[in-house]
Amino acid sequence: MKDKKGVFTFPARVLKPVNEFLKKELKKLLTRRQQVVKADPFSDPTRTSDNAAEDAEAAEQFGHAQAEAIKNHLDRRIVQVRKALSRIKIGRYGVCEECDRFIDTERLMVFPETTICVDCGKKKKLKKSS
Ligand SMILES: [Zn+2]
Repeated sequence: MKDKKGVFTFPARVLKPVNEFLKKELKKLLTRRQQVVKADPFSDPTRTSDNAAEDAEAAEQFGHAQAEAIKNHLDRRIVQVRKALSRIKIGRYGVCEECDRFIDTERLMVFPETTICVDCGKKKKLKKSS
């Protein structure tokens, strides 16, 4: 499928459901994030810093660290879904943003929010771990 410029694009009938799905996904993620922020003991306005029981303090620290970890994970996914949505908007969905090659349709089906191909994904992971 090629558009006027001869660039590969997915037909609208394929992109529409993906767009809808990602929008729903974004909504879900944002709701979940709000819940996590609310559940974080550190965001509790009634929380006092002069905590008598050290156990309670430790539990709060743990709860906070956990909430932070979940929040960071959600933030990363939110950014990714937003990115994918903007790729649809500019007509670049399904094209790797690193190397401009097409992303495997199978990969897109499993991770519709992905914006890079398998190879670039692997390279990124390697960079991170080194
Ligand atoms: Zn790539």
